[in-house]
Amino acid sequence: MTLFTLRKRNFENQYPVPSTRYPGDFRENKLMATKKFKYLVIGNSAGGIGCVEGIRRVDRTGTIAIVSDERYHTYSRPLITHLIEGDVERGGMDFRPRSFYRGHDVQPYLGFRAGNLDTNGRKVSLVSSEDGTRHTIRFEKLLIATGGKPFIPPMEGLDLDGVTPMINLDQSLEVRKKLGRVKSAVVLGAGLIGTKTAQALAHQIEKVTMVELADRILSPVTDAVSSEMAADAFRRNGVQVLLTNTVTEVRGDNRGRVSEVQLKDGSVLPCDLFIVAIGVRPRTEIVEGTDISLSDIKLGGGIEVGMNMETNVEGIYACGDCAHAHDFVTGGMKLLPLWPNAYIGGRIAGLNMAGSKHQHRWATNMNSVDFFGFPMVSAGFMLKPDRKGFEEVIRQEDGNYSKVILKGDVIQGLIMAGNVDRAGIYLGLMREKVKTTSFKKELLTDDFAVVQLPFEVKEKIKQPIMEIE
Ligand SMILES: Cc1cc2nc3c(=O)[nH]c(=O)nc-3n(C[C@H](O)[C@H](O)[C@H](O)COP(=O)(O)OP(=O)(O)OC[C@H]3O[C@@H](n4cnc5c(N)ncnc54)[C@H](O)[C@@H]3O)c2cc1C
Repeated sequence: MTLFTLRKRNFENQYPVPSTRYPGDFRENKLMATKKFKYLVIGNSAGGIGCVEGIRRVDRTGTIAIVSDERYHTYSRPLITHLIEGDVERGGMDFRPRSFYRGHDVQPYLGFRAGNLDTNGRKVSLVSSEDGTRHTIRFEKLLIATGGKPFIPPMEGLDLDGVTPMINLDQSLEVRKKLGRVKSAVVLGAGLIGTKTAQALAHQIEKVTMVELADRILSPVTDAVSSEMAADAFRRNGVQVLLTNTVTEVRGDNRGRVSEVQLKDGSVLPCDLFIVAIGVRPRTEIVEGTDISLSDIKLGGGIEVGMNMETNVEGIYACGDCAHAHDFVTGGMKLLPLWPNAYIGGRIAGLNMAGSKHQHRWATNMNSVDFFGFPMVSAGFMLKPDRKGFEEVIRQEDGNYSKVILKGDVIQGLIMAGNVDRAGIYLGLMREKVKTTSFKKELLTDDFAVVQLPFEVKEKIKQPIMEIE
């Protein structure tokens, strides 16, 4: 698998002012009519678009509708913090060209919330967020790709102006609009969303503080050493990092705007902006009250699917942040709220909905990030499991850090921080479960390169992620 990288494009000249009403965002809704579609896709993001593309690989003519309660043309969600930073404009965030729906012969319903799912009657209601009009859509096959919703802790003051999660375009546009009057911001949570938001804000405003309950930042995607290296990049760029602490109360001024937050350790941080980024939960309200199975809340409460992405109800599929996926490293089904997992899961679902037979075998906890020019890649296990048979190889020098976790000489985990040039090779070896016995000693040396690998290994890791690409 090639590394997932997001291309940042700046279309500033073409789209000078980002706005919530963007040319084309409503374009197709005028065509609205109650009707039946062969395929209905709920969610117009990574999973939904992957599904449409999967369907069209097999079925060129079956009718498709795609629904989203966000009114926008499909966009790259991981770029919303870049929009705050101003290094990408609204047009540069499009995940697919504006011609996508027409080109794939898809009817988009943008700005419509889907509900009242009737799995036996194979229908769903749509409600317009513009004017409340209701429609019924009938379908033969359905994909649920409804993504995630932010975890909001029970806390006083979260309704104040200047308090927001950061998971969609509207929220980033809103923050961007406020930047002129914001002097200091507090970001609660230092996971992927919190750190990316803090980085974006650091480029824009005077004081940014990240507050994290764990004893390190980015804990799901780092170990102690790489986490500290990333935290150091934040500190060097003026972001205050507070660990083993949290916010207990949010207070406002007499205009209803956030003015300060109270921390667990008793200290108080003044702020004009407070971002809540302590996690995302599967957004599954559409399946509540239906016969579609959800996992136990202890396992994340996502929609249960098989490796073909079908739920327990025939013809109804789910993928992405709202559903579970098979982790090829650790085994078992789990939540993997990552863009490539959603896209590939959607694509597999689409192929299968159209009659093909595929399995989603390539998901794992895999991240590629860059903080203030300090890149990090990680995948699989971040910490050596405390079980027999696992070993780790580490190399740390000149501000770079690499770690590989092996079991039976097969790579099961990887962290690269600083120099990530060869991450793609290790990921390929990991994905293909290649035994590294004959080259294990050289694995993290400067000399290690793909040319050294045995021919059959080179061929294996060169293969695309899916035979369907
Ligand atoms: C700030 C940020 C940074 C990120 N950075 C990265 C990164 O660097 N790398 C990475 O791999 N991942 C990253 N992610 C995660 C990634 O964006 C998600 O994993 C991915 O978007 C999931 O795609 P999805 O299709 O499952 O759902 P989503 O992208 O969440 O889309 C679901 C859509 O369905 C809509 N919807 C939900 N319910 C309904 C309904 N009932 N009716 C109509 N519409 C509905 C939602 O409004 C939404 O538009 C980031 C996420 C955020 C927020």
